[in-house]
Amino acid sequence: MFSVLRVAARSRGFATAVTVDGFTGAVGNTPLIYLKGLSEKTGSKIYGKAEFQNPGGSVKDRAALGVVRNAEEKGLIKPGGTVVEGTAGNTGIGLAHVCRARGYRCVIYMPDNQSQEKIDLLRMLGADVRPVPAVAYDNPKNYNHQARDYAQTLDNGIWTDQFDNTANAYAHYISTGPEIWEQTGGDLDGFICATGTGGTLAGVGKYLKEKSGGKTQIWLADPPGSVLTSYVSSGGQLIERSGSSITEGIGQGRITKNLGLFVDELSGAFTVPDEKSIAMIYELLDTEGLYIGASTALNVVAAVELAQKLGKGSKVATILCDGAYRYQSRLFSKKWLKLKGLEDAIPAHLKKYAVL
Ligand code: PMP
Repeated sequence: MFSVLRVAARSRGFATAVTVDGFTGAVGNTPLIYLKGLSEKTGSKIYGKAEFQNPGGSVKDRAALGVVRNAEEKGLIKPGGTVVEGTAGNTGIGLAHVCRARGYRCVIYMPDNQSQEKIDLLRMLGADVRPVPAVAYDNPKNYNHQARDYAQTLDNGIWTDQFDNTANAYAHYISTGPEIWEQTGGDLDGFICATGTGGTLAGVGKYLKEKSGGKTQIWLADPPGSVLTSYVSSGGQLIERSGSSITEGIGQGRITKNLGLFVDELSGAFTVPDEKSIAMIYELLDTEGLYIGASTALNVVAAVELAQKLGKGSKVATILCDGAYRYQSRLFSKKWLKLKGLEDAIPAHLKKYAVL
């Protein structure tokens, strides 16, 4: 009876169910979603890797699991130890889950300009959250340095160092990249995404480029206020960081060790303005039924632009990093949109979704 029902469900388009071991067993193996409306509009095939379906709700579950496993394998942390990280949110959420599942204490340093939803969730997951002033990386009070300094005071504790610990990119090289390759049958013209640590882009990019023998072009998408587009376009000049973006978790002022693994092999980079990202949040909700965060929206705008660059019929994939649930008090608030000067960026027929 049940097997008949399963076949019926599959034939009607439901995903196939698998049994896995615990939280960590549920990380990865996310669907690749064909974005029908946007594909038809552009005459290309646009795909989004549904990383919001990871058990902790974001692409960063993979990195969190990757850095903790790496530390365990190297004997750097023993049962009952403490995991310390500096994170704007999603890595912390992934780490908090992994720590609960594997019996570690979790301490998170984060800049104090992040959304309340993420802070609340971290605390509910049992993490010790320590908000610190949002200052630049070269300031010793930056959240990363504070995380490192605190970890150094612990006997059985590690700083997972998501920006410069390449176990992060490796997690994507051995999981996200191969999954996309398999899901597209290796037939992919382009892959593009924004970067925070650079782990996703470097890991996925390296795998797809190697496997395709260079056929799949790998591009970087940047929010305003990040220096990476100018770095890539100028052939390696680092400029001073200036400006800001409503997107959270992406944009960079330096070449992290994770991004450094692959930055020289990128085919190009471009910046997506916040106006386009915010409009895409609403468009994806309206046309695809997807409720996604701002970095995902930026990635999808970039995927469409890359598909246009590569020509009609091209196939392009990107990352759907997380859902809008963590940011809804901002992204769907009329007051917040007005404050950010973005209310007019949303097409009139989509404004009905801004219900807060
Ligand atoms: N989107 C969101 C919402 C994120 O939290 C992050 C990680 N900070 C990224 C994208 C970028 O991923 P990565 O760190 O692998 O570059």
